[in-house]
Amino acid sequence: MRQHGKLEYGGQATPQRTCVGCRVRTAKSELLRLVRVEDHVVPDLRGRLPGRGASLHPSLSCLELAERRRAFPRAFRVPGPLDVSRVRAQLEGDHANVM
Ligand SMILES: [Zn+2]
Repeated sequence: MRQHGKLEYGGQATPQRTCVGCRVRTAKSELLRLVRVEDHVVPDLRGRLPGRGASLHPSLSCLELAERRRAFPRAFRVPGPLDVSRVRAQLEGDHANVM
């Protein structure tokens, strides 16, 4: 594929997902995929973990919004609260690396 100067941009070129925190639709590639492992929410960094996923902007404010809204139990269809400490650690780690 070496076509220059002709970018076709009709239709849904980019799959989109809704962030469970701020509820903004964003390109899937810009969101962090989260999956549930027992009562933990864990980041699916390679996009390979099976099961129902939830999407989140890789930002602590969206994580906090999601927690406040109890978005995770809803997204994963479980009754109880879920532990998001691994997601938080991931986001805090990202921050440290970027800054
Ligand atoms: Zn968000």
